[in-house]
Amino acid sequence: MNFGYDNSVAVVTGGSSGIGLATVRVLLESGARVALCARNESRLEDVAEVLRRDFGANRVLARALSVLDEEAVNGFAAEVHETFGRCDLLVNNAGQGRQSTFENTSNQDWRDEYELKIFSQVLPIRAFLPMLREAKGAIVAVNSLLAYQPESHMVCTSSARAGVQNMLKSLSLELAPDVRVNSVLMGLIGSGQWTRRFAAREDQSVSREQWYRDLAERKGIPMKRLGDAEEAANAIAFLGSRAASYITGAQLDVSGGLNRHI
Ligand code: NDP
Repeated sequence: MNFGYDNSVAVVTGGSSGIGLATVRVLLESGARVALCARNESRLEDVAEVLRRDFGANRVLARALSVLDEEAVNGFAAEVHETFGRCDLLVNNAGQGRQSTFENTSNQDWRDEYELKIFSQVLPIRAFLPMLREAKGAIVAVNSLLAYQPESHMVCTSSARAGVQNMLKSLSLELAPDVRVNSVLMGLIGSGQWTRRFAAREDQSVSREQWYRDLAERKGIPMKRLGDAEEAANAIAFLGSRAASYITGAQLDVSGGLNRHI
């Protein structure tokens, strides 16, 4: 699918796997030059090598860093400016969920979770904002349906994600009309974190297809399957594109109908 990103530059955090990687590919296919980051350098470099081969070396910039390292994130923004001269879209995708109930979440777990969820948005947004303003660009935050539909076995993730949604709403007001700010609420997308949970399944004889089917049934997903990373990426690419030029402060849920609120 082509979302019309010719002459644009996009930054995707957590671009080496799952939803982030699928987003990088959709944006490249749509004509953008893309900068991506993730912590694990060798996995990132493997991914970047394939992307450079498929789309051209001058369209891909990859940097190993944690989005929680302010100095590194600021350095990344400077490098994007030096290499590409602009930034039209920031996709804040880096992160992971934490499964724990109130009783087994320590104080440090709460602090870690809030730091990850809030600062994985705050630090990249602050670093890329001057370029986004200049380009009249867009921010798309990857968030979770848990922000609105909390689950007790993911108590701190759910509450941190609700806080992120609240912050993004304020930000959409503060940055309008220059920079649009929207989010995508993921349901269950069959990428990194579910791959890891599948690998750690109790009954190792169960196939991936069966395990995913059972999971979708247990969760009551109306579409009766998990989403694909590409389906999540398409929603992100749409919200960041010129086709969404009058949309800001909105959230789009990609959950196969799991979203129960009106
Ligand atoms: P993956 O594990 O496949 O990908 C996560 C990516 O983020 C990797 O590239 C990882 O690379 C990177 N990353 C993680 N932490 C950091 C960090 N501190 N700094 C920089 N990069 C980081 O996950 P998914 O694609 O499944 O998830 C993508 C996002 O969507 C996450 O934020 C997740 O919480 C959210 N989400 C996913 C859902 C799902 O069902 N899949 C549901 C709800 C939300 P590395 O480890 O090398 O840093």
